[in-house]
Amino acid sequence: MKKLLIKFSSEITLKGLNRKTFEDALIKNIRDQIGSQYYIKKEPGRLYLDSYTDEVIEKVKDIFGVIGVAEADVVEKDIDSIAKAAIEQLRSIPNVKTFKVETKRGDKKFPLNSTDVSRKVGGIILSNIPDINVDVHNPEIVVHVEIREETYVFSKEEKGQGGMPYKTSGKGVLLLSGGIDSPVAGYMMARRGLEIVSVYYHSHPYTSERAKEKVIDLAKQLVRFTGHMKLYVVSFTKIQMEIIEKCREDELTIIMRRFMTKIGEKVAIKEGALSIITGESLGQVASQTLESMYVTNNDINMPVFRPLVAMDKVDIMDISRRIGTYEISILPYEDCCTIFVPKHPKTRPRLIDILESEKVLDRSGLIDEAISEAEIIEIG
Ligand code: ATP
Ligand code: MG
Repeated sequence: MKKLLIKFSSEITLKGLNRKTFEDALIKNIRDQIGSQYYIKKEPGRLYLDSYTDEVIEKVKDIFGVIGVAEADVVEKDIDSIAKAAIEQLRSIPNVKTFKVETKRGDKKFPLNSTDVSRKVGGIILSNIPDINVDVHNPEIVVHVEIREETYVFSKEEKGQGGMPYKTSGKGVLLLSGGIDSPVAGYMMARRGLEIVSVYYHSHPYTSERAKEKVIDLAKQLVRFTGHMKLYVVSFTKIQMEIIEKCREDELTIIMRRFMTKIGEKVAIKEGALSIITGESLGQVASQTLESMYVTNNDINMPVFRPLVAMDKVDIMDISRRIGTYEISILPYEDCCTIFVPKHPKTRPRLIDILESEKVLDRSGLIDEAISEAEIIEIG
């Protein structure tokens, strides 16, 4: 008999009294993704599925908190049965030259300790498979033996996403553009357990319906990991027009950014969220210098998470390819930030100048209007 063994992050097992809350959240997230027809059994540091499909394996790998999955043989609790399964598994992998056996003994009633089990099973493998050797330091294959309530043997493990179970670290509002960076930023924070509500600023008719569809597609890609997401599509046209009409050209971007962040904060308050997430990376563009971030942040009273702040673009792109957002992000539809770019944006804005410039705008009126007219899309 085979079972799917699900390993979860040691950060969860270290949670002390809160451990059960985190484990229960993980189990709930798995159940929500794969359906309640699958029975999930819990043991220390492990979950098991009695039955599963290839699709279930793929889904479980994408659930935050899962560090790995393995299809394990469930065998009788004796050395010969363990060794028999191990040999079959090694034979099914072509050209294995080196291996080692690693044993965990949760069932302390089992007469041999873990070192003895590894040694005995290793010996039987050596005498049954020709041309194979033990390499304790750098083996091609590790045969895992876990003696718990039941006894499991597995030699192939697939990596999961890691992180903390979704929705165990509070809630944040992700400013989600159609670019490469912000979906990655959302993924990284969701991976730490932060529940994500997204906000997209749409400048219809200057940005097309296709640009909005692209952001919806990005959100759908993130939902692969989160199961569900609320997306606010906030019309930004009127705000941009007012800024363009009334403010200095070189201050357009920074004033716009301040609107985006402030609206993000208002949506956060409405949604019971306590943070904002952006895809900013230090020095990437004029609006992401330290001075610009300082001015953008100035009237925000909650943490603004910028998980990419210290990352290079190539590394951000690597993650976006891995999580499946890259191909969508590089589609060429224009963004509201790219249609009205000042020729020489201020890279070192001063707060007093910007606050002075903004006085001609009805900032809170524009913000409230934008939020009240937002379209809310439930994804997943
Ligand atoms: P990205 O790849 O995320 O678009 P970028 O390098 O193009 O990033 P900017 O356009 O300066 O950067 O935007 C910085 C951050 O502001 C984005 O990462 C995103 O969090 C937010 N942002 C920008 N444009 C929008 C938009 N139209 N809607 C929502 N958030 C936006
Ligand atoms: Mg952008």
